[in-house]
Amino acid sequence: NVNRKPEIQEARLKLPVVAEEQVIMEAIRNNTVVIICGETGSGKTTQVPQFLYEAGWSHPDSDNPGMIGVTQPRRVATVSMAKRVADELNLSDKEVSHQIRYDATVSDKTRIKFMTDGVLLREMSQDLLLTKYSTIIIDEAHERNLNTDILIGVVSRVLKLRAELSREDRQKIKPLRVIIMSATLRVADFTENKTLFPVVPPVINVNARQFPVAIHFNKKTPLDHVGEAYKKITKIHERLPNGGILVFLTGQNEINQLCKELRKRYPALPPKATKKEIVKEEKANALESKTDSTPAGKADIEDEALELGENQVEEDFDLSSDDDDDIGEGFDDDELADVKDAPLHVLPLYSMLPTEAQLRVFEPPPEGTRLCVIATNVAETSVTIPGVRYVVDCGKSKERKYDVETGVQTFEIDWTSQASAGQRAGRAGRTGPGHCYRLFSSAVFDNEFEKFSTPEIHRMPIEGVVLSMKAMNIDNVVNFPFPTPPPRENLMKAEKLLGYLGAISTTNRHITEFGRTMSLFPITPRFAKMLIIGQQHGCLPYVIAIVSALSVGDPFIQDYHLDEDQPDTDDELESRELGNITSESVAEKERRKLVRKKYYSSQMKHAGLDPSSDILKLLNVVGAYEYAGATTKFCEDNFLRPKAMEEIRKLRRQLTNLVSSNFPEIDICLDPKMPPPSAVQLKVLRQVITAGFIDSVAIRQDVLDTGGGKGLRYKNAKNVVYRLLWTDEEAFIHPGSILYSQEPPAMLVYSELYKGGKNWLKCNTAVEAK
Ligand code: ADP
Ligand code: MG
Repeated sequence: NVNRKPEIQEARLKLPVVAEEQVIMEAIRNNTVVIICGETGSGKTTQVPQFLYEAGWSHPDSDNPGMIGVTQPRRVATVSMAKRVADELNLSDKEVSHQIRYDATVSDKTRIKFMTDGVLLREMSQDLLLTKYSTIIIDEAHERNLNTDILIGVVSRVLKLRAELSREDRQKIKPLRVIIMSATLRVADFTENKTLFPVVPPVINVNARQFPVAIHFNKKTPLDHVGEAYKKITKIHERLPNGGILVFLTGQNEINQLCKELRKRYPALPPKATKKEIVKEEKANALESKTDSTPAGKADIEDEALELGENQVEEDFDLSSDDDDDIGEGFDDDELADVKDAPLHVLPLYSMLPTEAQLRVFEPPPEGTRLCVIATNVAETSVTIPGVRYVVDCGKSKERKYDVETGVQTFEIDWTSQASAGQRAGRAGRTGPGHCYRLFSSAVFDNEFEKFSTPEIHRMPIEGVVLSMKAMNIDNVVNFPFPTPPPRENLMKAEKLLGYLGAISTTNRHITEFGRTMSLFPITPRFAKMLIIGQQHGCLPYVIAIVSALSVGDPFIQDYHLDEDQPDTDDELESRELGNITSESVAEKERRKLVRKKYYSSQMKHAGLDPSSDILKLLNVVGAYEYAGATTKFCEDNFLRPKAMEEIRKLRRQLTNLVSSNFPEIDICLDPKMPPPSAVQLKVLRQVITAGFIDSVAIRQDVLDTGGGKGLRYKNAKNVVYRLLWTDEEAFIHPGSILYSQEPPAMLVYSELYKGGKNWLKCNTAVEAK
């Protein structure tokens, strides 16, 4: 019933996975879970779904009706692999379909369905038993994305459920099969985890023929990896024998820039090209600029829209690096050429590129030209480009990062792992011996690259993970079978916090509507809550500024917190301070006194707006900084760290964009300058802060003792005991707080608890007595 074209059939037979078809199908028939490991390009993604199809799986009349579902972490691979499998099987996209967030070709005829892992997770919140599927193939499991990890966990439970139900009534419901596919052999997290799979699943290793790849490191690590890549490509193209070049860069902008430069330097077609060929080439290139209509979203790994944070610039880098002389290393002299204007067929490859433009990388380049693909890490394991002999690797990638404390999500460019660099190099050895040029030194590789990348779940703040899972209707997170589980106490704490914040119901632990909205923001749930409730009275720009400042952390230089006229009796703080002072001359002491005075007057100036909150003081500073033109001078004059202020600024922009794209009904402008908040707005802001830190309440001990009465009178907060509401611990207002030198409030919320010899409450806001 399968009718493949002869040339396809011939190409398939060369794939290592095809040689293992019997072994693989046998394992799938006899086991509910099978793990397949094989080098990138060995045929896992394109062939395994076809084995099942050919054996009759997914046919309505078979013993295994229901679609063959294949999940991918990336959209690029989802769409292009669906198309490839449809072509190989000679079927339409109605039968071999894809589904990504806003685009699907699925029909009631669909037999094989490729989708992103996020799509399947969302589907499972409606149909946990996956009744439409006979098999789920989880691809690229080595990447260890949060979604993939969660998917493996949920699917392991569904397997059990489906098996039980089918024992009761085999006619009505059939058992599910799960196939996990991975590019590297690091699968112990799946096989040795008894909570995940009680019976150890068989692992099939596909032995792909991999030709040797010679690795060439740069002697120096250049600052500008795009420029360095350009130089290297030029040398390869002009001097080295035939063979495609695959270049790894970090993102869309870099890729487009390099493509433009290379196309300017080399013709795309040989001089003898016909008019027809030229027109065809121009048409094909025009596909690239067709913008992908898919809105930017949180779920996409390669989203370029939410960029934050510059590339870290290492100081010892040498701009004038010249590593080009030895390009002929590893080649015989008679193999080397010196041709200045040979045609180069330059193609980009990244997630946001329209599908038709992506698929061009699989076509052989025009006769007499050399293929040169400039890609992001999609070409690392998800997509295999034929005919590559040279790899140029910048060694970096753009990764989604999270600040574990604040939950802020950013995209940052950083070194990849040694394992990833190995994968990239391997792309040069698919069709014959190859060469990989690393645009960094071996010292950087040895000292700065991690061995493997850490699973995403361990890089994310835990309450964000839990909220995401609740949004997928996974309620029992504490006992959830993660491949590598986070500590149980942390999961329980996170659930408790989400309860306080109103993101989940405190009785049944289900997510609330409010929680669903919160889950749309790339920041910790606490701050998401503040953003959502901060929409009244035009307060949103202020809340965004507050959340940004809190996320980045205190921008004030902290050295001047203690006032000599007001010595603190706390031993720890005092001795630290005295240690400094005794070693100073009298003049120096006087100087410091002056600086301190200036510091305090600057603090008081900023607190002027509302002297009852350190957070509102922060807001004031952020506003004043913008009015002063965001200068370094302003930072110096006001004891601020310029880098922190700059980061706050960027985060404000990012969050403002996010609010306007997720909530088009909210009218919010991007003007960084804001007028000071009105009295009403200040009141709302204080409520918003209280709601966001509802789990961090402290009450004055003497007020508690008098049962909510007025309590004692104090001139300042020195030695005034507070009691933490949820843990019953004792704590004190930190001398650096604006609340320290005035009558201490009966109740406050703190946003930092500093555990020294005593518990210190930092960054506080007084809660108004009603
Ligand atoms: P794996 O999943 O093991 O990395 P794949 O199944 O993705 O391997 O790739 C197997 C082969 O199919 C590769 O040699 C690749 O070049 C080829 N291939 C994949 N997609 C296409 C396509 N759209 N056009 C031509 N060849 C393709
Ligand atoms: Mg694959």
